[in-house]
Formats: sequence, C-alpha cells, structure tokens
Amino acid sequence: MSEPQLKSLLLDARLPRLEVRMLLEHVLAKPRAWLLAHDTDPLAPEVAAAYEALARRRIAGEPMAYLLGSREFMGHMFRVTPDVLIPRPDTEVLVETALECVAAIAGPAVLDLGTGSGAIAISIALARRDARVMASDVSAAALAVAAANAWDLTAAVRFVEGSWYEAVPAGEGFDLIVSNPPYVASDDPHLDQGDLRFEPRGALTDGAGGLDDLRRIVQGAANHLKPGGALWMEHGWDQAQAVRDMLAQAGFQDVCSRKDLAGIERISGGRYPLHPGST
Ligand code: GLN
Repeated sequence: MSEPQLKSLLLDARLPRLEVRMLLEHVLAKPRAWLLAHDTDPLAPEVAAAYEALARRRIAGEPMAYLLGSREFMGHMFRVTPDVLIPRPDTEVLVETALECVAAIAGPAVLDLGTGSGAIAISIALARRDARVMASDVSAAALAVAAANAWDLTAAVRFVEGSWYEAVPAGEGFDLIVSNPPYVASDDPHLDQGDLRFEPRGALTDGAGGLDDLRRIVQGAANHLKPGGALWMEHGWDQAQAVRDMLAQAGFQDVCSRKDLAGIERISGGRYPLHPGST
C-alpha cells in the first residue's frame, strides 16, 4: 500500500479549499508555492494530527483568524487572539478617513479609543511616521496583543489602559480621535452566529441598544480635541443618522457619514468648532 501524501489533506472535502490550504500552510509553516510543489511528499503523522485538530475546530465554527493567529488589515499582518476583535475590511474606511483628516497637519496627535488588536492605531502610525498616536483599551489582555503588534510592525504607539477617556491623561489635546467601539445591540441575533460567537462580547456590544459607547465617545470628545479637531467612529448599518444627530447636538460641524465596501454608511464624524458657537 502506498504511503499517504500531503495531497490527501488538500482534498479534505469538509472545508472550503482555500481554508484547507490556509490551515495546512499554517501547520507546515510553509507558503502556498511550497505546498503546491510538495503535494506528493509523504504525510508525517504529526502533520496529519495537527491539521486534523485545526480542521475540527474550524468545522465547529472557530474563526479562521483565531486558528491562524493572524489577519491582514491595511496591508499589514496583525496577530489576533480571542482577546481581540478580528480586524474587518470595512474598518479600513475609518483608517483612510483618519489619514485624510490629518493629511495637512505636521506631527498630528491621534487617539484611538478601544484599540483591540491595535489595527487602527498601528495602521495610522505606520502611514504617518510623524504622528503621535495614543491607543486605549479597557482590556489588559487586548493591550498585550496590540503592544505585540506595534512591536512586530515597528509602529510607535503609546498604549494606555482604561475605559474610554478615563484612560487618557488629562491635558492631552488631539487633532483626531477615532474609535471602532462596541455597537451591536445586546439582543442582536448576529451575536450568536458565525465568527461573532467566538469574539470578545465586550468588544461587540455595549450590553444595551448599541449606541451607549458611541454616545460616551461623542460626549467626551470636546474635552480632548484641539480646536478644529475631528472625531470619526465606526457604527452599525442602521446607526448613521443617530450618530450624526449625536455629533450635531454635541456641537460638531461638517458632520457626515461614509460608506463601507458594501455601500452601507459605516462611519460618521465631524469637526469640533474652532470657536464654540461659530457656524
Ligand atoms: N462590524 C462588527 C460586526 O458587526 C462589529 C464591530 C463592533 O461592534 N465594533 O460584525
């Protein structure tokens, strides 16, 4: 009888082909090209066992990003663990908008509230080496992941621990505040579906209707923005109007929303006036 070959795993029909390949590349620590060139190599029993363990977890629903321990965002590889939300492509519009906001400012001061894996703060710091970027999280475990990402990617980010503005040292004024806070309503059935089941609940939902943390961020921003500074937040598919209203009520100007890759209004923001009361 012929020995089993690597190829036999590539034919695993329980999972999509791409996922099979990604898991196998991970187990072997080899790139795709190697795998395709070596598919008739004998299959070592420990490779088969390691693959099988991951495949079973995937079949049980665990997100690919947690099984692989990484996810690409803004062209950078971020490590992810179940302590942090998995970076979403939709969030790239928040980073792109942030970079536009500070394009004309030399050495901009930027704050990312609830940084999780650090994907937003680190992407900004890498695109703007002159920026002074601070990033907060209430979770020490998340901050450990974010700090490791900053180290791996050589990004200069100052991390601070605490809930929203409580983490931010008094007297710091920012040109820009960004955040992708928990905004899913606690009774949203999506929390019990797909990848979300495995992500930190506290990073997904505020435990209420989904607008509480967004409101906290809007209401505290004036104390931490320089005159003319901007605030941009990611939010849910049906929250754009509510967030624009909050911003307008808090005295922000040029309030608007931008769409994600699916054409859904996904982020909203505005500029805090140079002179309160001016139009
Ligand atoms: N966009 C995520 C989702 O709905 C939620 C992220 C968040 O709450 N910040 O899957």
